[in-house]
Amino acid sequence: MRLTVLGKSPAWQDARGACSGYLVEEDDFALLLDCGHGVHSELRRVRERVDAVVLSHMHADHFFGLVPFAYALTIATRATRRGRPKLLLPPGGRELLSSLEQLLAIGGLLEEAFTIESYEPESPLVLGPLALAFAVVPHFVPTWAIAVEHQGRRLVYGADCGVGDELVAFASGADLALLESTLAAPHPEGSRFHLSAREAGEHARAAGAARLLLTHFSDELDSLALRREGAAGFGGAVELARAGATYGV
Ligand SMILES: [Zn+2]
Ligand SMILES: [Zn+2]
Repeated sequence: MRLTVLGKSPAWQDARGACSGYLVEEDDFALLLDCGHGVHSELRRVRERVDAVVLSHMHADHFFGLVPFAYALTIATRATRRGRPKLLLPPGGRELLSSLEQLLAIGGLLEEAFTIESYEPESPLVLGPLALAFAVVPHFVPTWAIAVEHQGRRLVYGADCGVGDELVAFASGADLALLESTLAAPHPEGSRFHLSAREAGEHARAAGAARLLLTHFSDELDSLALRREGAAGFGGAVELARAGATYGV
């Protein structure tokens, strides 16, 4: 599998950066994990179309990019951008998306652009050559980490996730763990709904992940400190997600 980071910003975009969006490709099949602000524009640099989009949770920085994407799929002039990708929403996502469409006066746009379904987190999901699994993780709203497997190789995307055992269990033995490191300093006990770089490292280490790629951090943070803190938690070198970069899994 090939993982390409389209956007790694947290809830606000880096200068010239996009919010969460991760492209997973195997052969000609393309899966987009999350689609935040600016992700569609970055996707256009890489390829014309995707087969499926899967959302981890319904925070704006993980799905607002669907609106321009849907316009491109329905009214862009280039025929190659047409097609109707699957859009797989987490439980409760459909209702939220419908409300948003009403609010934005774009009723029906997303249904026209995508084949919309909801995934059942308890059930494994097969999309083309990729096998997906889900695990609920601690965050402000219902959120699912997503594992993508192909021929024994395993990518685990932690989504937005706070401190807890859920991610450690789910990321067990991951070949590549793609974990958020939003915080410059850990959240206090009782409201730990994001991770610092050190905490992300500790979770990946406890899971026995082979590689750790930190993401969902602002360009306002010091990248050397992120690397140092991440490595201290992980017990080895970590990588920092970079928009446009591709990683083999
Ligand atoms: Zn986020
Ligand atoms: Zn979130």
